[in-house]
Parts: sequence; structure tokens; C-alpha cells
Amino acid sequence: MKKYKLNIGWLYPDLMNIYGDRGNIIVLQKRCEWRGIKTEIISIDQNTNNEQLLNCDLLMMGGAQDTQQEIVGKDLEKKKQTLKKMIEDYVPGLYICGGFQYLGKYYKEASGNIINQLGILDMYTENPGDRRLIGNIAIEVDFVIANEVKQSKWVEKRKGPHGLRPQDDDDCILVGFENHGGRTILGSNIKPLGKVIYGYGSNDVSLEEGAIYKNTIGTYFHGPILPKNPELADWLIARALEKKYGSTSSSESKEKIELKILNDSIAKKAREVILKKLIKNY
Ligand code: GLN
Repeated sequence: MKKYKLNIGWLYPDLMNIYGDRGNIIVLQKRCEWRGIKTEIISIDQNTNNEQLLNCDLLMMGGAQDTQQEIVGKDLEKKKQTLKKMIEDYVPGLYICGGFQYLGKYYKEASGNIINQLGILDMYTENPGDRRLIGNIAIEVDFVIANEVKQSKWVEKRKGPHGLRPQDDDDCILVGFENHGGRTILGSNIKPLGKVIYGYGSNDVSLEEGAIYKNTIGTYFHGPILPKNPELADWLIARALEKKYGSTSSSESKEKIELKILNDSIAKKAREVILKKLIKNY
């Protein structure tokens, strides 16, 4: 088998890393290694430059409290153009909560203070300062997260509290934990990652959660998200391999990367146990 290697960029590991988000890096690294794909974890922070960021094949940024977000925001300004170019150029990334909020136009803190964000995605976040949105969360995603993105048909099999369950394939359901004051509103050229079937989601009004834009995924799922939802990790790894070794965008792949299927029975059982607790008659 060809020798693949992925440089995994971990954005601000010391400042943007709450509620276990570092676990996402561990999952990406292990699921590559189990397949013979070498990895190098590159910390991207105030001490690294744009060239080092550009050298990454896959990005992950965790969440943080408002204070850390203000500090990181100042440094991200220096990396904004590079990050924007990478996102537009289909470099896959997972941005969690505060990391997700940065991709929008601004973040209005509970104090009313407005922190300009990167303006890469058509969205914004406001923290009304009343209650935080905290608790377990489950969403139905409208694409099958596996080795390749394919539209799955929504079949009204069992009406969940907030929407339709996808056709059979439970890989369409993600479970996690959310804890955020910010409410994110999506604009036009961006899709929600999924529909809330339990919990609050991005703003507790639209019943949408997160966002997907090209190969960039933003979400409020802490936990961390990837151990509970290994299909999402594989989706990111496959996009990174395609981009680096096979295509300039997920739709123009010259070399279709098919990841060796791993035994995820424990993760799927854990997700089923969580869903049975959260959703009556699941
Ligand atoms: N500080 C932001 C908020 O409260 C993000 C929180 C987080 O990353 N968990 O919305």
C-alpha cells in the first residue's frame, strides 16, 4: 500500500481545548495509524507562522471560554488569510464551539463586547448572557458520514422530537455534549451540519446544529465528538487524503481513497446506549 502521511494541525492547543476536545486529535491520529497512515501533529499557536499552518493537511480547533477567545482572536488575525485560503481550497477541518464561532463574522459576548471574527463563513454568533445551552445533544446529519459524502434520502421512518430520522443508516446520527452561551445564526451559502433531535443546537431556535462548508465542519459538540462518532473522523481523514494525494476538491477526486473499515462496534454500542437514554422509543 502507498505510504500516506497526514500533517494534523491542532489550532491553539493550550488555549482552545476545553471539555475534552484534545480527544479529537487522539482519535484522528489513532484512526490513521491503525490504517498505516503516518501522522505528525503540528501545534498552531502564537509561536507558529503561516507557512507552518499552510503545511497542514487537516485542521482541528477546540473550544474555550470568552477570555481565551479574545486572546486567540488577536493571533488568528495574522493567520486569517491563510486559513481562509485553506478552507476555500477544501482543506478539511473540524472546528468546535469557540473554534467554530471564529469562522463567522463576529462574536458578541454576554457583556455586549463585540469581537470581530474571521468572516470566513457566512454566519455570526451572539451571547445574550441569559442561560447557557448545556447538556447532551443528538443530531441527524443529512449526509452519510463514511468514506465519501453521499446524499441520503430522508424517510419519515420514526418522527423524532424535532425532525425526521434518516433512512436506516444510524451513521447519520451524531451524539455529544454542548456547553455554550453563544447562539450562532447561519447565513445563505452555508448548510447546517444537522437537525437537532435532542438538545439545543446552534441557537435553540432553528433546531439546526453546526455548519458544513466545503470540507469544513463546525459544531458545538464537545465530548469529544470524534470517539463517539468515528464516521466523522473517517470523513475528515478521507477528505484530507483525497486532497493531498488524489484531488483538488472532494468532487474532482482522481484517486478515490477508500479507508479500511475499522471495528467500531464499541463506539456504535455506546452511541446506541446514549440515544436510548435521550430519545423515548429509540
Ligand atoms: N465562549 C463561547 C460561548 O460561551 C464558546 C464556549 C465553548 O467553546 N464551549 O459560546
